[in-house]
Amino acid sequence: MRTAAFGLLIGSLVSCEWKEPAAQASVLKPGPAPAKTEASANTAANHASPAEAAPPAGTVKIEPASTPAAEIMARKQVPILCYHQVRDYRPTDSKSARDYIVPTADFKAQMKGLADSGYTTILPEQLYQYLSSGTQLPEKSVMITFDDGCDEQFDITRDILKPLDFKAAFFIMTVSVNRPNFMRAEQLKQLSDEGHSIGLHTWDHHNVKQYQGDDWVKQIEKPKAQLEKITGRPVQFFAYPFGLWNQAAIPELKSRGMVAAFQLSTPRLAESPLYTIRRIIVPGGWTGAQLVNRMKSGFKG
Ligand SMILES: [Zn+2]
Repeated sequence: MRTAAFGLLIGSLVSCEWKEPAAQASVLKPGPAPAKTEASANTAANHASPAEAAPPAGTVKIEPASTPAAEIMARKQVPILCYHQVRDYRPTDSKSARDYIVPTADFKAQMKGLADSGYTTILPEQLYQYLSSGTQLPEKSVMITFDDGCDEQFDITRDILKPLDFKAAFFIMTVSVNRPNFMRAEQLKQLSDEGHSIGLHTWDHHNVKQYQGDDWVKQIEKPKAQLEKITGRPVQFFAYPFGLWNQAAIPELKSRGMVAAFQLSTPRLAESPLYTIRRIIVPGGWTGAQLVNRMKSGFKG
């Protein structure tokens, strides 16, 4: 059985296979709050630098900065990669489906290529601090993102990223959480606890350009709260379904606590670069060296 939403999803941007929904699993309770107060007290007592006492990225709510857009536009872009499924092709995968599937060996080679070239992964929180405040990043920084929440993102990619000490951002559509072929709530919580970032990718993957009235509550407010309940952490980063965005969406996201949003590869909006951050979809078949070259050519300026 497929819902209309999944017809849209699978028709337009092929993702995890859809099977009968599983029984509704219970949502995990939030974990313990980060020990922010204690860390702050220690900082004051020891006169330590703020960096030493800073809580892990993603554990503290970001207060939006009022950095001028031109300042953000002037900063060098960080390459951001977008993946969907990492698994070997199946005979039933159509040609268009394969555009969104990266075979496991190719993904491994791509990640090894990044590591061998000296790249460090950063998370959306670090990117935000860099773009809004000019906080320094490692010279060779890259952000790895996964959309849609397919279960191989936990079962396959997590084990490939771990030995390289790579962290990634996972943008989740909450309608599929706990359903077959998608990640379960406890897996999202585990990724978050292991230092990865959980962001929002709407409730059911509808195009934000079509939202009206209560759609913003259904697609952003409620699923944001759901992910925050699952992870016990603020969820303030958003990835547009299909990478599609318009100017009208930006104030809606902003007013609902999103501090930045990720599209695909169209030019950024000069007035709102934080809400039109660019990413490239990495296909299977690229070697590590090809990936590094594409990152350099795709994120100039
Ligand atoms: Zn998607």
